[in-house]
Amino acid sequence: MWLYSWRLDTLRKRALKMSDSELQLEKQRAELLKRIGSVGDLRRGSITATSGKCGKPTCHCAKPGSSGHGPNFRLTRKVQGKTVTETFASPAALQKAQREVEEFHRFQNLCDQVVEVSEQLCAVRPIDSSLSPRKKNRGSASTGSRAGSKRAVPAQLV
Ligand SMILES: [Zn+2]
Repeated sequence: MWLYSWRLDTLRKRALKMSDSELQLEKQRAELLKRIGSVGDLRRGSITATSGKCGKPTCHCAKPGSSGHGPNFRLTRKVQGKTVTETFASPAALQKAQREVEEFHRFQNLCDQVVEVSEQLCAVRPIDSSLSPRKKNRGSASTGSRAGSKRAVPAQLV
């Protein structure tokens, strides 16, 4: 498997005249996209804990030595500019929401990394003159017109 992928890389590199840094970055991006493909249930919002004293003089929290209320957990998120608050019926519901919010952060992090790697790729990509409108001749495909022994490997292959 290692040999096979090494051979593929070499072939691609020759066919597309790709530099080592491009190949490396493409691998990184493919790996990140694979990880994005495996994300689970995710949701936006942030979970915060509220605790303390409510201020009512008759409440149990006003008694000396009381640690106050909570902590009470809630999830807040913005929906069309408004903050929506959600509370949890049970510790299990809280844990579920925590996992979902964490998954969203993981997803966001992966997306950021894809953009970063992609920007690096853009920087090392050669400017392909064959894509300029001037050289676009109708009807004749320029691939393989030279020696004919090398097969062009589509860029979407890996
Ligand atoms: Zn109170």
